[in-house]
Amino acid sequence: QWIFLNGSYVKKEDAVISVYDHGFLYGDGVFEGIRSYSGNVFKLHEHLVRLYESAKSIMLEIPYTQEEMTQIIVETLRRNELKDGYIRLVVSRGVGDLGLDPANCREASVIVIAEPLRIYPKELYDTGIEIATVATRRNRSDVLNPMIKSLNYLNNILVKMEANLAGVPEALMLNDQGYVAEGSADNIFIVKDGKLLTPPGHVGALVGITRNTIIEIAREKGYEVEEAMFTRHEVYTADEVFLTGTAAEVIAVVKVDGRVIGEGKPGQVTNDLLAAFREQTVKDGVK
Ligand code: PLP
Repeated sequence: QWIFLNGSYVKKEDAVISVYDHGFLYGDGVFEGIRSYSGNVFKLHEHLVRLYESAKSIMLEIPYTQEEMTQIIVETLRRNELKDGYIRLVVSRGVGDLGLDPANCREASVIVIAEPLRIYPKELYDTGIEIATVATRRNRSDVLNPMIKSLNYLNNILVKMEANLAGVPEALMLNDQGYVAEGSADNIFIVKDGKLLTPPGHVGALVGITRNTIIEIAREKGYEVEEAMFTRHEVYTADEVFLTGTAAEVIAVVKVDGRVIGEGKPGQVTNDLLAAFREQTVKDGVK
């Protein structure tokens, strides 16, 4: 396996970074997770825009242009002979000293890893998944904006651990006011009376690229979609619930905190949108 590391392609065993890298010491950096389908990188432009905007927000200079980064991603896929893969882009503040001050870091570290996919087993897309809400809260956009896809993922990791303890594959975070925000690495949609609702970013959610794609597809298909705040009650009483994310794509949720959603199986709207999404992933993308 070949990994792009600071300007060179190196073998996985040789892909190591300094213990003084501020990405490691402080989680000072940003990242993206991107998918490639049949050799096409899906929504690459959108992912790069989010990466560069996250970096800009934390005043982190990425030493490559978006065009150069595109070439690096395509080359990493090529070297690993991957057509369907998951690409992880990491840009950290780079090597500094033990102080917090990023001024001591001379240059950002840039890493691109491409791997075959590891997502939920196929059966779960047919049956839907059970999720739980957990105690870990999502900060709202007035604190560290969740729109910054930073290397500080402790919140999300705590959510994942709570999900593991509860014996479910994913869990939902609420914000400090009790509004539903998102999963550990997915956005949430609920369907009620044929209308789709998803929380706005300011509730405390990363505005996912899959989420935006689903909004677009749903509107094209004539569904009404609204960004709205809602609580657990609206989730429990929804006709359908599903999660969206680069890794998960679109996955139905059939039970939340022990409450069966709708008829307890993936609903018609969810299936309709998943099929349209899959169609789009093979059509679109950067070669
Ligand atoms: N929310 C969080 C916290 C995430 O890390 C991700 C994954 O990137 C998502 C939502 C879904 O976003 P996207 O569809 O852009 O992958």
